[in-house]
Amino acid sequence: MSHVFYSLHDQALKLSRRYLACEKELLEILVKIESKKVYLQQGYSSLTEYSQKALGLSRDVSWNLVTIVHKSKAVPELKHAVQMGVLPLSKARQIAPHLTKENSQKFIALAQAMPREKLQEALAKVVTAQAHQCTYQDPRTQLRCDKERFLHIHHKLPVAMGGTNALENLTLLCSSHHRLEHYRSSG
Ligand SMILES: [Zn+2]
Ligand SMILES: [Zn+2]
Repeated sequence: MSHVFYSLHDQALKLSRRYLACEKELLEILVKIESKKVYLQQGYSSLTEYSQKALGLSRDVSWNLVTIVHKSKAVPELKHAVQMGVLPLSKARQIAPHLTKENSQKFIALAQAMPREKLQEALAKVVTAQAHQCTYQDPRTQLRCDKERFLHIHHKLPVAMGGTNALENLTLLCSSHHRLEHYRSSG
């Protein structure tokens, strides 16, 4: 009996390896399709629509892949980590929404080190810590300012122009970037 078990397990293992390899290859192709906007020529308005309707992927699978494709434009390190096989797609998907150019190394390392079921919790902690950081992003390098102290609350839309104290209108800036924002909006 045990050889039957073994052979079933063996087959499942082989197939899932192929399945994961396929998923990785598919991601690579989707990155190219997105950059050349092949889906437009096929009559679809977005990569999401294309991957569901033309490729027949489920909503979840397509959402996972498309999220990674889009994030990889700003943070190519994400795609590279998946292609090198050091980061499983499922983990890449989990960290993608939080990734920026300057935290990518930290987040990818975190995702590699953490078992999947603990990753979400670890991410939440890092993201909360990041919330107490200047939100200024250099428009040229895409790097976020790393100041964590002496932060000012800034109104994205000034109160004088009808901006409110609602959370989505507030952001944190260090004193020099706060000055810069006001200098810019007055000039
Ligand atoms: Zn301000
Ligand atoms: Zn700053």
